[in-house]
Amino acid sequence: MPGERVLTILHLDLDRLTWKTETRADLAGYLGGIGLASKLFAELWRPGLKPLDPAQPVVLAIGPLSTVFPLATKTAAVFHSPLTGEWGESYAGMRLALALRFAGYDALVVTGRAAHPVYASVTPGRVSFRDARGLWGLSTEETGRILREWEAGRGHRSTVRIGPAGERGVAFAGVNVDTFRHFGRLGLGAVFGAKKLKALVVYGDKSFPIPDRKAYRAVYDEVFRRAVETDLLEKYHGLGTAGNVMVLDGLGALPTRNLRQNRFEHAARISGEAFAEQTLLRKLACPGCPVGCIHIGLYRRQFGTGYEYESIALAYDHELIYALGSLLGIGDTDGVYALIEKVELLGLDAITSGVLLAWATEALQEGLISAEELGVRLAFGKPDGYLAALDRVVRQPNDLYRTLARGLEAAARTYGGRDFALTLGGHEMAGYHTGYGFLLGQAVGARHSHLCNAGYAVDQDLGPDFDPDVLVERLIAEEKWRQVLNSLCICLFGRGVWDRDTVRAALESLGIEAGGDFLSALGDRVFKLKNEVKQEMGFDFRKLRFPRRCLETPSFQGRLDEAVLKDLLERYIRKAGV
Ligand code: SF4
Repeated sequence: MPGERVLTILHLDLDRLTWKTETRADLAGYLGGIGLASKLFAELWRPGLKPLDPAQPVVLAIGPLSTVFPLATKTAAVFHSPLTGEWGESYAGMRLALALRFAGYDALVVTGRAAHPVYASVTPGRVSFRDARGLWGLSTEETGRILREWEAGRGHRSTVRIGPAGERGVAFAGVNVDTFRHFGRLGLGAVFGAKKLKALVVYGDKSFPIPDRKAYRAVYDEVFRRAVETDLLEKYHGLGTAGNVMVLDGLGALPTRNLRQNRFEHAARISGEAFAEQTLLRKLACPGCPVGCIHIGLYRRQFGTGYEYESIALAYDHELIYALGSLLGIGDTDGVYALIEKVELLGLDAITSGVLLAWATEALQEGLISAEELGVRLAFGKPDGYLAALDRVVRQPNDLYRTLARGLEAAARTYGGRDFALTLGGHEMAGYHTGYGFLLGQAVGARHSHLCNAGYAVDQDLGPDFDPDVLVERLIAEEKWRQVLNSLCICLFGRGVWDRDTVRAALESLGIEAGGDFLSALGDRVFKLKNEVKQEMGFDFRKLRFPRRCLETPSFQGRLDEAVLKDLLERYIRKAGV
């Protein structure tokens, strides 16, 4: 049978502070990663209960190539999103996949709610639940530092934790993984917080035989060669995704000041080039990745009067620069770094934070929210007000901040300003105002992310004079193929390296038969399963809304027409069979 193997699932029950493992041969056809996590979630989630109900599961999963092949570095997470109220899905790199792999688990499921804050220490064949009351309230950085001191296993260990935002149920709280990686989007941090789960520390030191070492070596070498000797991944190591800032600005596709503009007059000052030339310290890689796309810069800050300075290392990329830079009109690297540090320490999703603050700035100008309730001064280009507002979003001192903590859809429903509330499918938009493919792609994608189907790339390929059927078919085909890559937990930056034949050869070198139409069928099945669960959760394609601001401000494809978008949406529904 294609994909045949036995998968090991670790279940943590926080109600009882117990754990068990189960082995499932019947799930092998889902491979791992998003396929496996989606299937487990579909079995375990509880319709009718709210996203933060303790009974709702969190599923983390890796794939059969994880750690064994270059670029197979991600861990998939599936949960019920408190931000959109429907499908929650997120990915993180760094050491978590490695640690799970060598601990011997293909997936980890968490249910229940502990009586007081705990963290779980997961090792091969054993789980310990430890008191985390002393960590509750600490930032992600402090928590990570302490856990690294408390828990043994440096190099084989992954430290996964939330900050104050997750503890306080902010619907767009993320989960920090090791150094500078996150399950950022859709609120997994709030789900951890509702379960009183401050952290997971996973340690693995098992080993595994490779059945056909010669075949394995041949595929490994070819993937490695393509990753380092071709130009397929050059841009990710060079400037990183921050290199997109100037490209998008040049295309008229860089959302600026809550998308009142599609170009930023200070783009060059917050470009990938500017960050690299003025601040780049080093580049990091997830374990097993020869690319090293994680750009770490130096933020030097005066913290007191006189000659009092400190230096902080922070990761930057395009999404951070867009959401905390151009979208807020902030045109200097220090201002962007100050906000990156703030969301990092509080444990907030950066994109949602920036889009929410951009809306709040305009809502204040329009008189929809009051300066008194805000208690801070929000103005485009001024980081100080935004820094203070983010602290308040986490503390939630009044009704306004309690609403903001539920995300932008909730805020715009309560206070108005939906025309300039930049959400697509209920999720705050990513930083690509390229045209129809991006808007439709994020809105219809299972997790409402630009990464579901790369509509921004489709726009740039097809240009303004596109065939609507071709655009829709490309989105569907890309999202289905990404279900395969994400079931293998391959970093999507490496998608050019990992073509269909290479995926098949890699699986077969590990003794996993993947011939015939196995991969295509897997993509179709996971795509369908996710959309079925989403619809059970209440998602309705026909209720999708496209913010007026996205139509008014010209994109790379020019000014967009709502009628064309609606027509594309109907074609998508028909062709995707959703
Ligand atoms: S390309 Fe970057 S994100 Fe992807 S695996 Fe390598 S270091 Fe990690």
